[in-house]
Amino acid sequence: MIDTAKMAEIIRAIAARMETEKDYLTQLDNEIGDGDHGINMVRGFNAVMEKLPELETGDIGSLLKGTGMQLVSNVGGASGPLYGTAFMKAGNVLKGKSEIEAADFAAALEAAVGGVKLRGKSTEGEKTMLDALCPAHKAFNEAIAAGDELKAALQKAVAAAEAGVEYTKTIAATKGRASYLGERSIGHQDPGATSSLFILQEIEKCL
Ligand code: ADP
Ligand code: MG
Repeated sequence: MIDTAKMAEIIRAIAARMETEKDYLTQLDNEIGDGDHGINMVRGFNAVMEKLPELETGDIGSLLKGTGMQLVSNVGGASGPLYGTAFMKAGNVLKGKSEIEAADFAAALEAAVGGVKLRGKSTEGEKTMLDALCPAHKAFNEAIAAGDELKAALQKAVAAAEAGVEYTKTIAATKGRASYLGERSIGHQDPGATSSLFILQEIEKCL
């Protein structure tokens, strides 16, 4: 079970992780983008942290929705609107809930991934955050269907996202800035897939 306090703890953990990984994410983005992914994630989650004391007085839905809105309105890069949409969509699904179980989490994850696809006009296999998020979502659903608890299912989701991040090294980007490099993006790890993995890892660690 995740309650509002736990969800706020998860958001704080994600914000702290982005700070830790700022230089690494920026370095990955230097290779195939414009070298700002770590900066963007830190700027976005710093804005979320400023608003968190107010957001955590609400339910999980409004907490996640507010998180998404802060990301959308404070990050200039592509990742801000994409992650922002993901959190806002998850928030819509969890509207009015102050405690959630695995099935709610699955529905929120589904909405979040769907939101990224719609907003990004993107899909799996294009060397984006979706190459971490889609396999994670699939693995999570399979684990839940097989009777796993939330934490166990998330561990499998994290493992799938790790494999997805590795996979991004083998393919050429067809979406986002890295697509300007075409085949030359092969061999490089996607920064957004990497930050998605970090987010999933922090959620799992907090449970
Ligand atoms: P920008 O590319 O505007 O500089 P960031 O560097 O913060 O923004 O984020 C780059 C990441 O965003 C990429 O590594 C990729 O994972 C993700 N991304 C870019 N475009 C898309 C898209 N259309 N769909 C999904 N993810 C995308
Ligand atoms: Mg960038």
